[in-house]
Amino acid sequence: MFRLPEYSYPCGARLCLWRRYARSGRQREGDEMQSSRSMRAWALVMFAVFVAFLLAASALDRGAEAQEAPGVLAGKKIVVDAGHGGGDAGAANARYGLVEKDQTLDVSRRLKALLEASGATVYMTRTGDGTLSNSDRYAYANRTGADILVSVHMNGSSDPAANYTTVLFGKWRKDKALAVALLDGLHPALGIPRRDPYSFASGVLLKSEMPAAIAETVFITSDAEGRLLSDGTGARQQQIAEALKTGIEGYFRTP
Ligand SMILES: [Zn+2]
Repeated sequence: MFRLPEYSYPCGARLCLWRRYARSGRQREGDEMQSSRSMRAWALVMFAVFVAFLLAASALDRGAEAQEAPGVLAGKKIVVDAGHGGGDAGAANARYGLVEKDQTLDVSRRLKALLEASGATVYMTRTGDGTLSNSDRYAYANRTGADILVSVHMNGSSDPAANYTTVLFGKWRKDKALAVALLDGLHPALGIPRRDPYSFASGVLLKSEMPAAIAETVFITSDAEGRLLSDGTGARQQQIAEALKTGIEGYFRTP
């Protein structure tokens, strides 16, 4: 059979061109794939750098917060004196089964935890149901060399409607500023009326060498207070502890 020579075969030439085109097309696709792969790799690297930057920034932020957290209480030495104890029950609310010595210890423990979380060192005059005299309390406080002494109490009245918060001080110069600051923490935070601080001749206040005050936080004998304190959640006790902490912070913040 007659055949044209290969080079002059038009179809062959077209085929040849098409093949060349197809080959170069594949190459182009290959190049594009190559470059899109490296673009993706760069994007990943940039994203990783960005994420690393964010993580580092948030870690720095957390570090700063951790440093800020202790604030004004950092390094402060505070005596927390849970009022009454042992054979001295203090006031009581029979209707709600509340006894002052237990409630003051509950609030004092919460206050201790809050103060320590803010960097303070806390000395408790009692951690259990021990009986302490006033001289036991101030002698212990004086041995610690603490900056302040906060005595935690609850008030009592024969009137179940009576309820307000107040703070007692011993010596005007030594204790008054602490009493005022504590009351500013308690009121209006506790949502009950306040009575301005007044002086009270207690050995705990008069014989302690550091600023000292007795916080008569709430009336344990109040019906409304009895309901709150005995609801089993500990929310009212926590609120009282937080209000005391706010007052203590206010005291140390004031020059
Ligand atoms: Zn008391």
